[in-house]
Amino acid sequence: MKSIMYVGKKFISSKIVCVGRNYKEHIHELGNELPSSIVLFFKPNSAVSEDLFYFGKNTQYECEITFLIEDKKIVAAGVGFDLTKRDIQNELKQKGLPWERAKAFDNSAVLSEFVKFEKIDELNFELFINGELKQKGGVKDMLYHPFDILKECQNFISFENGDIIMSGTPKGVGVYKIGDSFLVKLFDGKKEILKKNWIVKF
Ligand code: ZN
Repeated sequence: MKSIMYVGKKFISSKIVCVGRNYKEHIHELGNELPSSIVLFFKPNSAVSEDLFYFGKNTQYECEITFLIEDKKIVAAGVGFDLTKRDIQNELKQKGLPWERAKAFDNSAVLSEFVKFEKIDELNFELFINGELKQKGGVKDMLYHPFDILKECQNFISFENGDIIMSGTPKGVGVYKIGDSFLVKLFDGKKEILKKNWIVKF
C-alpha cells in the first residue's frame, strides 16, 4: 500500500475522493452542465504518486487543492494533480459509463506533502508550467465548500485516517510532456504555505 507523510506521521490512504465540476469556469471549458449535486468519483490507493509521470498525448493535468482527513475531519491541505485520460473519459461519458479507466489508473493521483492551514476559506493556489501561469483558484471559487463535500460523502462512506479529498480543478487544464516543469504554490490568504515542483518523468 502506498503511504503519505504528515507531521512525521505515516498515513495510508484507503481512498481518494475526487470532486468533478467544482469550479464554474472549468465546467464551461469542458462543455459540461452545472451539477445539481456534487459529482464524485474515487481513486484507489494504487493511484497515489509522489511523481508526475507522462501517460501520452491525451492525458491532461488537473491541479487541485487536496485535503487530508484524520479523525473524520480535514486536518491539512496540499496540492496535487488529478491526471485524466481525456479521450477515454469523453468516450465513457458519452456512453454513460463509469470513469475509472480514465481517472483511477496507477499514479493518477499526484500528491504533494500536506501542511497545516489557518483559514480554509482563504486557501488558493497557482500552477505554473515552465514558468507560465496556467491555473489558479481557491475555496472561494468552489461551488461546493470542502466541509460540504466531507459532509455529503459521510452520508454514504466512512472516512479513515489518511483518506484524501481532491477538491476539483479550475479552468486551464491541459496536456503536458516529458520534462515539463510544474510549480504549484498554495496560499493561506496571501501567505504562501506550500511550494512544490515536479518535473514530468517518463
Ligand atoms: Zn479533477
